[in-house]
Amino acid sequence: DTRIIDGRLRAETLSREVAAGAERLRGATGVVPKLVTILVGEDPASKIYVRRKAEHARAIGMRSVSHHLDADLSEAALLALIAALNADREVHGILVQLPLPPQIDRVRVLAAIDPAKDIDGFHPMNVGLLASDGDGIVPCTPRGCMMLLEAELGSLQGLNALVVGCSNIVGRPMAQLLLRAGCTVSIAHIHTRDLPTLVATADLLVSAAGAPGLIRGGWLKPGATVIDVGINRVPKPDGDGTRIVGDVRFDEALGRAAAITPVPGGVGPMTIACLLDNVLRSAERLAAEGRCAAAA
Ligand code: NAD
Repeated sequence: DTRIIDGRLRAETLSREVAAGAERLRGATGVVPKLVTILVGEDPASKIYVRRKAEHARAIGMRSVSHHLDADLSEAALLALIAALNADREVHGILVQLPLPPQIDRVRVLAAIDPAKDIDGFHPMNVGLLASDGDGIVPCTPRGCMMLLEAELGSLQGLNALVVGCSNIVGRPMAQLLLRAGCTVSIAHIHTRDLPTLVATADLLVSAAGAPGLIRGGWLKPGATVIDVGINRVPKPDGDGTRIVGDVRFDEALGRAAAITPVPGGVGPMTIACLLDNVLRSAERLAAEGRCAAAA
């Protein structure tokens, strides 16, 4: 029997822990963790994502401010906003929603965020700390995947792990975390020649390709643990509207995998909970360093 990993439940537990941590911090220091989101332009999915992040932050007792800026915003104006937020002693987390419009250089923008407030973990300093076993801020989606994997399997040491996808946001940091946990890590991507053979060797599989139904159930090693990060909108079989599916053929994986995350309801909720945990950690660290102010 294949266990369905309940990411929603785990995320609710984590959110409660983060809320309690925020309350403790407020009691001890007067600091209320504050998240600032920046959205440039009108991408519909991005709008939903930033709104959700801000709402969840408020729901667990954090403060949150959302900047929604015009699609034709200049890079200089965005950098000026980031500089002001870096200097603002009441701000603990700065999130620039990706993608950015073409006139703005993503790399320059991400590098302009104070690494201590870079709660997405995309600043080169945090990327480097992750790659060199340091103690930086870790990207939310891979952190959420690790929590689910560790809850499922305990120690991951010595397991063969396959990560499908090597984006800066999911695949690469995921592979770093698995390496740190003692896995033997393979990374597959769009140029990989024989994906089925690689999948068959994996004790645990994390798929972040954004390719609906890419991974067939019959490819899986029997008893594998499967984390499906993919969020793909596809037409419903009856042609009536659309639905969200993962990268893995869920129905085929049932009965073959030991455990699998559903889409939706698996990794997605964990991402937001981990984001808020990152905001809390940043606030705690900034407070300990005397780099932030109590809420007015
Ligand atoms: P991306 O497009 O930046 O990267 C996709 C990666 O997958 C690339 O490295 C590419 O080489 C690889 N890939 C694509 N098609 C492939 C194929 N057919 N075979 C093998 N490799 C292939 O995407 P991303 O930002 O990393 O996101 C990946 C997926 O995860 C998307 O569906 C996205 O919506 C989803 N996502 C979910 C969450 C969440 O919270 N659950 C968070 C971030 C991203």
